[in-house]
Amino acid sequence: MADSSLLADASIRLETALKYVNISEDAIERLQYPKASVTVSIPLRLDDGSLKIFRGYRVRYDDTRGPGKGGVRYHPNVSLDEVESLAFWMTFKCALMNLPYGGAKGGITLNPKALSKHELERLSRGYISAIADFIGTDVDILAPDMYTNATVMGWMMDQYSIIQRRITPGVVTGKPISMGGSQGRETATSVGAFQVINTLLPKFDQSPERTTVAVQGFGNVGAMLAQLLSQVGYRVVAVSDSQGGIYAPQGLDIPSIRRYKMSSRSLQAVYCESSVCNIVEHEVISNAELLNLKVDVLIPAALEKQITVENADQIQAKYIFEVANGPITSDADSILEKQGIRVFPDILVNAGGVTVSYFEWVQNRSGLYWTSEEVNQSLKERMTVETEKTWSIAQEFGVSMRTAAYIHALNRLGEAMDAKGTRDYFQSSQ
Ligand code: NAD
Repeated sequence: MADSSLLADASIRLETALKYVNISEDAIERLQYPKASVTVSIPLRLDDGSLKIFRGYRVRYDDTRGPGKGGVRYHPNVSLDEVESLAFWMTFKCALMNLPYGGAKGGITLNPKALSKHELERLSRGYISAIADFIGTDVDILAPDMYTNATVMGWMMDQYSIIQRRITPGVVTGKPISMGGSQGRETATSVGAFQVINTLLPKFDQSPERTTVAVQGFGNVGAMLAQLLSQVGYRVVAVSDSQGGIYAPQGLDIPSIRRYKMSSRSLQAVYCESSVCNIVEHEVISNAELLNLKVDVLIPAALEKQITVENADQIQAKYIFEVANGPITSDADSILEKQGIRVFPDILVNAGGVTVSYFEWVQNRSGLYWTSEEVNQSLKERMTVETEKTWSIAQEFGVSMRTAAYIHALNRLGEAMDAKGTRDYFQSSQ
């Protein structure tokens, strides 16, 4: 096992699920280690003419079921350990969703807010030049993650095409539509999470009108998900970003807050009529306070390790849907379970993004593009099917949804690994 805390913690979930699956020792051994990791130094000429070197990473955790697939994160905390953990989660997420991919992830350690747009473009292109031999349409496919978006993906695809001297849209997903992106990709993670929530909450007789929700992280995914939930009657009472949160027990007007946040970059409980926004009564809360609110549903949609042994016993929500990757540590899981809090795991809840990335890749390879209705319909179907299968496994073995999700993914991964392996040959020739 790699000697890194985040990856080691991620692997504990794997160990719990192994008790319930019948896969070979070979497959288990292989799943303990990332297949390949590269660390690169990316030189960037800053706008003032000086040179600065940035650290970048790309990790392919496993590619037994298909090419590596995973996003690229720009954040000051990006490290090899974090990228390996994220690549590990991608491996299980793709298997869980039955996508023909392995798992990968990448990132650059930087504060994206400190760079100009031109500097960000040069750095993104420099990252692709540095890892070009390690990626490819049938090798390892990139996508957006925290602080990267369609524009960044467009630069990356263009740079790779320049290096290859041919247009290669399939090497990156989450691109602008005009460069071969898919309809519905920007909202896919939120639409997928929304579908999971709507499939699971009725099993607990929890109807939208009787459900209060708090969302940590009002970014691409969290803000859209809050909007989708409020549109069908859930009462979203608190949201937050890196600066802190806002709380209004009577419920927040999410479309107004989204518009206000986009124009001002700050969070306020507001009500907007055309371009005029009035501030309405609300409480300013910290991110820690948001996590501890007495709500029905808590949605961490920001960073990993937000619920740990330090604060798990203060959580009062009944259900937690993990939209961020790894927001709950494994030791916090058991505390939450003892309190009777139901946790629905990241590898299922946030899998809508990679699912529509897969649809984008299919469209790029076939040259035939789908309507947003076709994308959203296929996404909803796939999310529902895999959510129901995971739920059935949880009922069958009497385990948490997290363990059930790993069992489901492990069965598919183990089968593929054993199909490729040589173990049977040696056993039969003895
Ligand atoms: P984003 O960068 O658009 O948004 C992140 C949000 O979190 C921002 O509002 C930011 O202000 C806030 N934030 C940062 N630090 C915070 C803190 N300490 N406390 C509270 N809020 C904080 O990113 P995103 O694309 O919305 O991704 C959010 C999470 O969802 C990440 O964990 C990402 O890995 C995961 N995810 C994203 C996708 C996708 O398609 N974008 C897919 C799967 C998983």
